[in-house]
Amino acid sequence: MWKFTPELEMLRDTVRKMANEVIAPRAAEIDLTGEFPWDIKELLQRQGIFSVPFPESLGGCEQKHTAVCLAVEEIARVCVSSSLILQVQALGATPILLAGTEAQKDKYCPPLASGEKLCAFGLTEPGAGSDAAAMATTAELRGDTYILNGLKHFISNATVADVFCIFAMTDRSKGTKGITAFIVEKDFPGFHIGRVEKKMGIRGSPTAEIVFEDCRVPRENLLGREGEGFKIAMKTLDYSRPVIASQAVGVAQAGLDFAVKYSKERVQFGGPIAQLQGIQFMLADMAAQVEAARALTYHAAALADEDSPQLSYIAAAAKLMASDVAMRVTTDAIQVAGGYGYMVDFPAERYMRDAKITQIYEGTNQIQRLVIARQLLK
Ligand SMILES: Cc1cc2nc3c(=O)[nH]c(=O)nc-3n(C[C@H](O)[C@H](O)[C@H](O)COP(=O)(O)OP(=O)(O)OC[C@H]3O[C@@H](n4cnc5c(N)ncnc54)[C@H](O)[C@@H]3O)c2cc1C
Repeated sequence: MWKFTPELEMLRDTVRKMANEVIAPRAAEIDLTGEFPWDIKELLQRQGIFSVPFPESLGGCEQKHTAVCLAVEEIARVCVSSSLILQVQALGATPILLAGTEAQKDKYCPPLASGEKLCAFGLTEPGAGSDAAAMATTAELRGDTYILNGLKHFISNATVADVFCIFAMTDRSKGTKGITAFIVEKDFPGFHIGRVEKKMGIRGSPTAEIVFEDCRVPRENLLGREGEGFKIAMKTLDYSRPVIASQAVGVAQAGLDFAVKYSKERVQFGGPIAQLQGIQFMLADMAAQVEAARALTYHAAALADEDSPQLSYIAAAAKLMASDVAMRVTTDAIQVAGGYGYMVDFPAERYMRDAKITQIYEGTNQIQRLVIARQLLK
């Protein structure tokens, strides 16, 4: 078992209690209705959980990356959709924490840390997914205002967020060095929400397009310098991938817990199926994979807390491994429960649908392999 400080253990226990008592009973309904769970957002806000990704001065922890992972794992164990509320808040705030001026941090971080406002991260476009540098959204400086035109899609929390970190081309001729980051508020003229997606899983987490039509962004909302956007985006993903890994560990643990409980209750051939060695071996393999994924995830989170040069490599490995484990373990959880596992009356099929996204977003697992291989071969 990974050893945490008393402060982190207290956070994990608080979130675990809240998850078990309040979020778990809501999870199936959130999945069914596909509505953003404002009640859970307000619960997290009341409990001060939104401060976790922020510096200690705003109520966060010293080891804030590990703290986010612990909280996200505990919430994802009962409801992956709800875990995205905190995960996306951390993702959207990271570019500001990494590259914001003091004035930008003073303006934007306190309402995000209190949960009064939500944020999001807008990198992906229809023609620029894995190849983020192929983005078509442009930003042109006119006087003291940047004019943004283009479209971002698949943006988590787009319909509920107030503040967005958006990446756009300021100079196409420079390739990745022509990409610039901006802080965009939902009320800026020319900012619109487009199509809202219908999804296989994480249905309580809204995913939508953002459309920029001559969207006016004040020059003071430039994040970092012109041309630094790609670097900021990639660094943000390095810090965020351990969080996706923790989300995957959470849902994998849910699958394992379900399979263990079910196997003790289900009677076939005159006894609980847990007595069958074939089932026991499945459970053992599931447990071993969850433990390995968790160890690598918290290793990556610790590297994030240390700002280690190894972060990129280990964060990609953790996200790759934990999300593959989540997919395998949740699929096996259904297998352990047989036909019942396939039915929506049991949570295992939701776990499997929710687990799938962890292999896709914040860089598909093919892209994680590219990141790992590049580090190995450089
Ligand atoms: C529910 C959801 C929420 C999301 N939230 C956000 C968000 O908040 N903000 C945001 O900016 N984005 C978000 N995304 C976008 C997500 O990060 C992208 O979907 C992802 O990076 C993959 O891009 P793509 O979907 O265009 O797939 P593509 O890039 O088209 O990939 C298609 C396939 O080709 C493979 N592939 C591509 N390039 C290579 C390569 N070089 N080598 C090997 N295989 C390759 C991929 O692995 C994949 O299997 C979200 C996506 C989803 C589905």
